[in-house]
Amino acid sequence: MSNTMNIVKLKLAIQKSGRLHDDSIRLLKECGIDISNGVNKLKAEASNFPIEVYFLRDDDIPQYVEDGVADIGFVGENVVYEKKKKVTVAEKLGFGKCRLSVAVRKSEAFTGPSFLEGKKIATSYPVILGDYLKANNVNAEIHEISGSVEIAPGIGLADAICDLVSSGSTLFMNGLKEAETILQSQAALIKNQGLSAEQEQLIARLLFRIQSVKKAKNNKYILLNAPNEKLKEIISLLPGMKSPTVLPLAEEGWSSVHSVLNENEFWDIIEQLKAAGAQGILVVPIEKMVV
Ligand code: ATP
Ligand code: ZN
Repeated sequence: MSNTMNIVKLKLAIQKSGRLHDDSIRLLKECGIDISNGVNKLKAEASNFPIEVYFLRDDDIPQYVEDGVADIGFVGENVVYEKKKKVTVAEKLGFGKCRLSVAVRKSEAFTGPSFLEGKKIATSYPVILGDYLKANNVNAEIHEISGSVEIAPGIGLADAICDLVSSGSTLFMNGLKEAETILQSQAALIKNQGLSAEQEQLIARLLFRIQSVKKAKNNKYILLNAPNEKLKEIISLLPGMKSPTVLPLAEEGWSSVHSVLNENEFWDIIEQLKAAGAQGILVVPIEKMVV
């Protein structure tokens, strides 16, 4: 018998270049996965995690993952839903946020989906747009184009468009306004539906790291000084992972309080803490949060 072990490796597909590339690499790095040598090639191997990274066009990633050429992929949900491949969305990744929206000329009064009845709509997302129109009982002509969709109304090619938007400035510059959002999207981890137990185990390890990185990004570590007579009130304002840490300060009658705050409630709580007598408030980013 041969003694070469069959080492299971995950094959991960990410965008070769474009809006998702840098954030995909960054996320891997934050997960402690080092693929620094070879990002310009077709394929790179991590030195410290059993993973091989394939660099592909984003549109091709769902197909590769369905076929098992890649086991998992990082790709925009917009692409996943447009391609309708048999893959599982396992985790949203928190970057590449955008929305797929219908846009019309600024001068027009969009009253709802029925506005689109009988109109010509240019898009690179015929499947998602088609589903939306169908769900709203609207008959419209979908004109599929692959790039620069936003210029279509200006050159008389369409009455409306359905395209990805983040700030809306591209629409505005082309005399358009966002009328309705069809899909909120961000990058997601998708996986093949027929993986082995070993591969699933590796994905679970990767997901655990990704979740720790995501949680850390949404939370801040906070340190503050509190007069002891205000401690109770101040502690009641802090959620924390368990309860806050309270340490005596060298100065008599004062304590140092440490806790973790979620980004969403952050400013509200800081204001209340100040009002309650907290001083010397320090806010520190968290690198990983393992809970
Ligand atoms: P590829 O060469 O890989 O096919 P692409 O030109 O199709 O690249 P990009 O423009 O790099 O794609 O966008 C990749 C993904 O980034 C989109 O599918 C979407 O999920 C996300 N994204 C985030 N913000 C935006 C935006 N404002 N416009 C377009 N895509 C965005
Ligand atoms: Zn693409």
